[in-house]
This record gives sequence, structure tokens and C-alpha cells, in this order.
Amino acid sequence: METSGVEKRRGVVLVPCPFQGHITPMLQLGWILHSKGFSIHIAHTKFNSPNPSNLPHFTFLPLSDYLDGCDTSFHNLLNVMSVINTNCEAPFQEYMMKMVGEEEVCGQPVACIIYDSIMQFAEAVANRLKLPSIVLRTTTAAYMHSHNVMFQLLAENLVPLPAESQLEAAIPQVYPLRFKDLPLPATIEIPQPVLDFLHSYMDIRSSSAVIWNTMDQLDHWALQQLQQDWPVPFFSIGPFHKMAPAIPTSLLEEESGCLSWLDKQAPNSVIYVSLGSLAIIDEKKLIEMARGIAKSEQPFLWAVRPSLLNGSDAIKSLPEDFMKITQERGMVVQWTPQKKVLAHPAVGGFLTHCGWNSTLESMCEGVPLICMPCFSDQLVNARYLTYVWRVGMELENAGERSIQEAIRTLMVSEEGDAIRQRALHMKREIERSINEGGSSYDSLYRLVEFITSLPGTK
Ligand code: UDP
Repeated sequence: METSGVEKRRGVVLVPCPFQGHITPMLQLGWILHSKGFSIHIAHTKFNSPNPSNLPHFTFLPLSDYLDGCDTSFHNLLNVMSVINTNCEAPFQEYMMKMVGEEEVCGQPVACIIYDSIMQFAEAVANRLKLPSIVLRTTTAAYMHSHNVMFQLLAENLVPLPAESQLEAAIPQVYPLRFKDLPLPATIEIPQPVLDFLHSYMDIRSSSAVIWNTMDQLDHWALQQLQQDWPVPFFSIGPFHKMAPAIPTSLLEEESGCLSWLDKQAPNSVIYVSLGSLAIIDEKKLIEMARGIAKSEQPFLWAVRPSLLNGSDAIKSLPEDFMKITQERGMVVQWTPQKKVLAHPAVGGFLTHCGWNSTLESMCEGVPLICMPCFSDQLVNARYLTYVWRVGMELENAGERSIQEAIRTLMVSEEGDAIRQRALHMKREIERSINEGGSSYDSLYRLVEFITSLPGTK
């Protein structure tokens, strides 16, 4: 896309949340805005810092987070986010005061701060310095709205449910979610700190607008619902990775050798398996997955990241005979160049945890999915994929047999073919939304106009 006639080199400060699924869309957004004429400054934690040498067009402002020695594993995420919000505010304010006070630091005025919804300290600083702020939502609106549903059910004492058997029931008036699709378990008491975090996460405070990595046609109903609560402009300009050229955003080293292996496989023959960057499973589940994948007898590429088992090396924990049985038709790596994998003609299906980036990356390539959601937005995404957009299959459970059957159904049955056709149709729909005249294209135009019109610094 060409740059429009915006005022050149006005600064935008981006504050990403330091997890892969959040950093990637924020850096992509940076690239999109850079291509529209803004200069981009990334204020980032030292923990999971992006690599500045990969992105020479941006300037980087490292924030001391004092997370050294802190448990940053999955089980402690709420605490990690709280530490970041407490510790990063002062250094961020210092940077911003310099930027606002001494224009020579960055050489241009600051139009606004765009922050990930988890990085709430950025909004506090923006407010104090009277700078406009815009919040980035890296998920669907449907997921965001599901929190309001949850709050409502709690207020009416309809959750926790008295029995597990009720999890399958549809939630009245909230098509298409069932109790089991809610982002938090509906059968247990939710701890107060978690609820406090979610209330705060759902609050856009004084933000002037919301940017979404979603598309209007996929998420229309939920966007409309949320617009009633948040009466500021919404800009749905997803999928970001298709609006920006491929930029390196990976925190882990990508094993590109898997692409040469894919080159040797037949078109649409390989099931790609990955549970993303954060989910952890236990050894029993890992073994069930391995057995299901092996017994499906289909070619596969499996990304088994080292932290998947939260401690022990996941690849070493695979069943002893697994590699032997599957060596002719499978490849196991720690981390793939996923977007390239999903775009490869040999890949015909994706067994996924349904993280929103993975979901978008798969849908954009017309690759049908098998949904194995683990937590949070993944549950909502899985429901939409299987029931509304109908480009994915629901796993009956995450057991060996269920995985084996789902892979066979997707890869070698008429039912699988029908899902693949719908996925290809979805790919074309998404392409329409990002091309001239499409909803994301138009939204981006409006976003650029909006940022340009913000007062910011003079
Ligand atoms: N990813 C990757 N290689 C892998 C697995 C994942 O590059 O082997 C990337 C993937 O392309 C996606 C991100 O990691 O952009 C994961 O984000 P997502 O929202 O899907 O899930 P999360 O990791 O946040 O649970």
C-alpha cells in the first residue's frame, strides 16, 4: 500500500506487551504506520525484548522491568503483568517527558501513544503528560465481549455452574457460546485477583480509540456490542501480518530446515501441529498427542517448543518409539517460521491451540484447522472457528483417539474437503477486506487520518 499524504515523520510511541502473541501484532502495526509516514518508537520491557537490529527503521526505548529472578512461567503470568505495570511506569514517564520536552531526542513531535491493553501504565503516563493514547486489542472483539458475558453471569449467580454436565449448554442470548467456551472455567469460583485483572483489562480508560487486529466481517456483532460500552472510534485493520510486509518478530530461533522438508511433501498432505508460545501441557497429554499423531498415519510437522512441558525438555519426553515409527513421514522441531509453514503448499491442515495470531495466519492461507484450545481467548476462537466460520473441526477431547480421528477426517475425508473449501473461501474474503475498498483497508485509511488529526505535541 502506498503512503497517503499524511504529515511526514510524526512520532508514534508503541508499547507492546512482552509475549510473542502480543509483540508480533504490535510490531506489525508499527510497520503499517511506518509505511504511512509515521516514525515509530518502541518502548519495550527488557524481558522478552524485541531485537532492534531486526527492525532498523524503528527506535527502541528499553524499560527496566526488574523482572530478573522473577518466575516468568505460565503459572505466574498475572504476577508478571502486575510487576511490569508497576515497574515500567517511571522509566516510561522519564522517556516520554524527554520526548515531549526536548524534541531533539526524537526529532519530531509525538502524535500519540499506542499501548497493548495489558500495558496500562502507558495510558497513565499519556494521561499525565496530556498525550492522546490509543489502545491496541490483539484479540477478537468476540473474546473481549465474552468477559462482559462472564461478568453478567457472575452478577446473576448463574456461574459457577453446579455440575460439569452443564458446560455443554448454550449460554442464553449469547450466540454462539456455550458455558465451556467461556475464557474462564464456568464450574469453579474465579479468584478475586483474576476478576480484578479482567475488569481492569476491559477498561479502556481515557483512550481516544481502539485498534483491532480483526476484521469487520468476522467480528461485526461483537464489535457493535463493545462499541456501546466504549464510545470512541474503532479501527479494525486486521489481519496485520497481511497489511505489513513480513518482518522478523520471533523471540525464539526459527528452524527453517522444516521448509526444505515441506518442499519434498505432496500438496495439502501435511498436518502442521503447534500449541503456540505460551500454552503448557502435562506429559500425559504430550504422549496422547504423539500417539494420536502417529496413529493418524498422515505426514506431519510438529513444533514442540522447549517450554511446552513447563520444565522438562518436551522433545526428550516424547515416547521412545514415536520418532522411530514416524521418521519416514514426520518432522519434529522446537519452533518453526510459522507463517511460511502455513503458506507452504504441502500444508493441508493445522492442529492448533487457536491463539488469535495462529488462527489468523491459518485463515489467511486457507488452511483448515483442528481446534485444541487450552485457555482464555483460544476457547472463544475455537467456537467461532468450528461453529460460526466453519473452517475448523472441534476435537471431542484432547485424547489420543480423538486426535487420530480428527486428523484423518480433516486430511483424507469428504468432510475434511468441505472444510478446506470453506477455508479457501474465507481466505478470499480476507483478501477482499484488505484490498482497496475492503473494510480493513478503509479502516486503516481512517486510522491514519485520525492519528494525523490528534493534537499530540506541537
Ligand atoms: N509461532 C511461530 N513458530 C512456532 C509457533 C508459533 O512463529 O513454532 C508464532 C505464530 O506464528 C504466532 C505466534 O507464534 O504468530 C503465537 O501467537 P498466538 O496468538 O497464535 O498464540 P500464543 O502464543 O499467544 O498463545
